Amino acid sequence: MTEEVTTGGVIYEPGNSAKTKTGGWRTFRPNFIHDKCKKCGICVKFCPEGIIEIKEEGAVADMDYCKGCGICVKVCPFQAIEMEVEKK
Ligand code: SF4
Ligand code: SF4
Repeated sequence: MTEEVTTGGVIYEPGNSAKTKTGGWRTFRPNFIHDKCKKCGICVKFCPEGIIEIKEEGAVADMDYCKGCGICVKVCPFQAIEMEVEKK
């Protein structure tokens, strides 16, 4: 690792684990239910990894980097995301 550590180890931006595929750690994964998604973008703002995008069909996450924290499930006002057990 050649990256510098910030003073106090402060993390200033989401998505800083993009270089280390944290998806491998997951026990649970979010399941985006596109029929219920209103494309409001709330989950995009709250995902600590910064890996949710709004596409034509609704919100989608880059599962290479999703660590299954479940924050997106908690913040979605339309119950358009459910957590399910990761099957690897
Ligand atoms: S918060 Fe829910 S409804 Fe809004 S974009 Fe995300 S999944 Fe869709
Ligand atoms: S569970 Fe949701 S909020 Fe957490 S990293 Fe994955 S997509 Fe982002």
